[in-house]
Amino acid sequence: MKGNEFREWSLYAAEWGADYRDTLRERPVRPLVEPGEIFKSINASPPEDGETMQAIFADFEQKILPGMTHWQHPRFFAYFPANAAPASVVAEYLVSAMAAQCMLWQTSPAATELETRVVDWMRQALGLPEGFSGVMQDSASSATLAAVLTMRERALDWQGNKKGLQGQPTLRVYSSDQVHTSIDRAIWVSGIGEENLVRIPVAGRFHAMDIIALEAAIVADRKSGMVPAGIIASVGGTSTGGTDDVAGVAAVARRHGLYLHVDAAWAGSAMICPEYRHFWAGAEQADSIVFNPHKWLGAQFDCSVQFIRQPEDLVRTLAIKPEFLKTHGRDGIINYSEWSVPLGRRFRALKLWFLLRAHGLENLRAMIRNHVVWSERLAARLAGEPDFEIVTEPMLSLFSFRHIAAEGWDADDHNLRLVNAINDDGRIYLTQTRVDGHVAIRFQVGQFETTAADIDTAFETITEIARDLA
Ligand SMILES: *Cc1c(COP(=O)(O)O)cnc(C)c1O
Repeated sequence: MKGNEFREWSLYAAEWGADYRDTLRERPVRPLVEPGEIFKSINASPPEDGETMQAIFADFEQKILPGMTHWQHPRFFAYFPANAAPASVVAEYLVSAMAAQCMLWQTSPAATELETRVVDWMRQALGLPEGFSGVMQDSASSATLAAVLTMRERALDWQGNKKGLQGQPTLRVYSSDQVHTSIDRAIWVSGIGEENLVRIPVAGRFHAMDIIALEAAIVADRKSGMVPAGIIASVGGTSTGGTDDVAGVAAVARRHGLYLHVDAAWAGSAMICPEYRHFWAGAEQADSIVFNPHKWLGAQFDCSVQFIRQPEDLVRTLAIKPEFLKTHGRDGIINYSEWSVPLGRRFRALKLWFLLRAHGLENLRAMIRNHVVWSERLAARLAGEPDFEIVTEPMLSLFSFRHIAAEGWDADDHNLRLVNAINDDGRIYLTQTRVDGHVAIRFQVGQFETTAADIDTAFETITEIARDLA
């Protein structure tokens, strides 16, 4: 880019972003495109000569935009939210303009020190006790991997990184079957192996691990010569909000000297409201907790916070110190790259700082409380219809339901067709899951711009399309 072009196009992009946000409501939430359509529209080879920004931007608008799913849309009720509140987007403009690598204190002292401060703000906001340090990771997947590697090293007396896993005792990690797939992957990548992720049976409305079965599994594994390493508890699982009795799990972890990691990637944001903290009572006893401000709280992706009780264990697991990374003579400073698997790190604290200051906790709480109430109301409304059933009751703002197919129809097939028809319609966007082997349609509300009227639109869209199909 020459001369003033960076300035001009940055301003243009900022204007574009504001217009985009203003017109989201008019767009279908999910695009209607066929697989391969966009790929075919992009030149097969890279250009030899530079092109004008006009041409590039025009292609962005014509070819790319029509193929985007609008995650900031007020009627996005699928998956979990990936909110990016405007204040955090503005911070991201600044972060990308500076483009600093924030791996060591000295590679950007402000990034490190703001991260320490903002993570502690979050600790207080979530009602966690002093004594937790923390770090910002790119994703909950990375945080969970770091936790599993720490479990592994602690259980192997710090010999795993050095000697590898050959000839070591078999390690065991325990969770329910409601945990996110990032736990499976952490178990694969850490070399512990899928067969050593022990799935504890669940019970009750929130699909919580059976504490007695958990303890029995640990005792049995020890008896047969294996080494229990840790437990992963879920608070707000991805499928239907599966939530363990964290206090009960923590007591077992303590009795057996096991590492406890809590995955509250989505639900953690709700803990800024004291009345929801009962869902994770006991989390304050965990060795680590992960939650994603980039989901419900409104920090632009990527922004995952991991609270850690003993950072020395994590650093002992992950820090390598080649000569060029040493920061001679500066003791007592934090080099956050030693707290995570990747070396390079973005300046993630800035957007969370902007977000928390621009909104204040009280406004964020009000938003989350609204979402929970609207979700409960919609579940009650659907339950009142003769041809709908609630499959899992609301856990915070997430519930699942099913349309009762006509006599002799395949209920799974019908509900899959229903969710596809709803998404093709464009007014709202939903995703499905399986509960006890059967298809259920998930509904979660978590968008910053969602209003009560959008929930009414959801009700109308769901009931209208279901009855048209039936
Ligand atoms: C979203 C989610 C994850 C994964 O989060 P990433 O940041 O995308 O890795 C893990 N666990 C739960 C419960 C989630 O909802």
